[in-house]
Amino acid sequence: MATTNKIIAIDGYSSCGKSTLAKALAERLHYLYIDSGAMYRAVTLYFLRHAVSVRHEEEVAAALRQIHIDFHIEPGKTRIFLNGEDVSDEIRQMHVSDYVSEVSAVKAVREAMVAQQQRLGKDKNIVMDGRDIGTTVFPEAHLKIFMTADPKVRAERRYLELKAKGEDTTLEEVFENLAHRDYIDTTRDESPLVRAEDAIILDNTDLNQAEQLQFVLDRL
Ligand code: C5P
Repeated sequence: MATTNKIIAIDGYSSCGKSTLAKALAERLHYLYIDSGAMYRAVTLYFLRHAVSVRHEEEVAAALRQIHIDFHIEPGKTRIFLNGEDVSDEIRQMHVSDYVSEVSAVKAVREAMVAQQQRLGKDKNIVMDGRDIGTTVFPEAHLKIFMTADPKVRAERRYLELKAKGEDTTLEEVFENLAHRDYIDTTRDESPLVRAEDAIILDNTDLNQAEQLQFVLDRL
């Protein structure tokens, strides 16, 4: 059956500003914003804390049964909860970033997250950002954007963000992490990061946030 709710899918490389744009769009359009990357990060945090090996199918399956992820949506900010604990800040730290793409490449992890993402988007107008939203989660999305930007510019932006939060890291470390994640995300077997045929490319290397928002609004 054709859906009447509207879905905007924003996919792209790491640290392209997908979530900043998705949040601004959701706010402007009064849609719900869902950060699918935060869900993979929360699973990764659980795996790290419980020493779950991505190579052990049974361990992964057992862990997934224990993991409950919820979003608490308040005006202006969304918090993510892992089994009742607010992990919104911890999932952004480098120890999670360093491992998240390995965890996200596991088939069972993807199946569990995609099912939950599809439930979250059922009957609601949403903006969801990630890597496979336009290809796998919502192939029928009304608008698909594929974001990209110069890797050096992306690393600089993310580095400044992490420094502002007090994270002890270097520009080189951030650059390497983005390159590593992009490599795994684009080459994995399970729903790799790839532009959906009907996605519009948005290269934001030289665009400010207002220009990016306008770019998308003009295409609705
Ligand atoms: O969006 P963010 O950079 O926070 O995502 C963290 C990681 O989660 C990505 O590098 C990717 O490995 C994984 N991810 C994914 N599919 C999504 C969203 C994120 O595999 N839809």
